[in-house]
Amino acid sequence: MSIRIQAKPFELMLKYPFSISGYSRESTPLMLLELELDGLIGVGEASMVPYHGENLATASEFLSKVKLDWLQAPFNFDELRDYLDGLAPGNPNIKAAIDIALHDLQGKIDQRPCWQYFDVDPERMPLTSITIGMDSREVILKKVQEAEPAQILKVKLGGEADKMLIETIRSVTDKPLFVDANQGWKDRNQALELVHWLQEQGVMLIEQPMDKNNWEDNAWITEQSSIPILGDESIQRMADVEKAKGVYHGINIKLMKSAGMHEAWQMIQMARKLDLKILIGCMSETSCATLAAAALAPLCDWADLDGPFLTKNNPFPNPDFKNGKWVLNNLPGLGIS
Ligand code: MG
Repeated sequence: MSIRIQAKPFELMLKYPFSISGYSRESTPLMLLELELDGLIGVGEASMVPYHGENLATASEFLSKVKLDWLQAPFNFDELRDYLDGLAPGNPNIKAAIDIALHDLQGKIDQRPCWQYFDVDPERMPLTSITIGMDSREVILKKVQEAEPAQILKVKLGGEADKMLIETIRSVTDKPLFVDANQGWKDRNQALELVHWLQEQGVMLIEQPMDKNNWEDNAWITEQSSIPILGDESIQRMADVEKAKGVYHGINIKLMKSAGMHEAWQMIQMARKLDLKILIGCMSETSCATLAAAALAPLCDWADLDGPFLTKNNPFPNPDFKNGKWVLNNLPGLGIS
């Protein structure tokens, strides 16, 4: 019996237009995958945020080359990665969808939850932040209220109004904050000044202060910051992890960058070896990719897995969320009920 692939385009609607430094959109195209073997179905998801270059056409074209008839359970995920990378470079989103669906399928074959494959202790699940995107003062206050289930908020900075945004949030809550500058800061002296100010405001970490290719200035900020500085856009796949050493205190790992759960897990091992901190993050995602990342989250220092909170037509039931954390269940595979 060989694995049958079914792909379904899906437009994931955002609750609010997504705005980061210099850019805005209202939905995200997804390619949802079902891989079927002997009556069991594994579910996967590619979330294709436009600025990464993948879309429904590139995903379909890539899938047209994929033949999984050589694959035998238990699946060898190193072989799978080499096979997919051999078909075409890039395309990490659709590669992630295949990897996630096969992990779900493997769990259903073995009747085991995916997190068990990574030797994860569900009790070590970190708190997950909910993101407050750039907006007017009024909308920011509404977003903070709606993010009530989270014990940590993540704030997108990198514009003209950075201090105003933080002061607005601080006028209503003293929850710890993550800050994501999304490469938005252009001058390293001003950036460092802001980093020191943010520390006084109860900020726990800062993602990607300056341009992803500006290793020197990002390293200069890291050296002088006592809050962890993390590389996100700079760090995509396994080969990038070593480059983070000496430039950032840690890295942001996302399944849509790492081409799936297997390589994300390998990146976690490598980061630990290099003494780098780890945030596990996400794109605009449904319960499917959220649960896939949550299966690895207990191996990380922090989590920013807020997809289901920021979208309004999640086609799957929302996973359990208690005391600011996702709850891993014992259902086979990803645990989508
Ligand atoms: Mg980021």
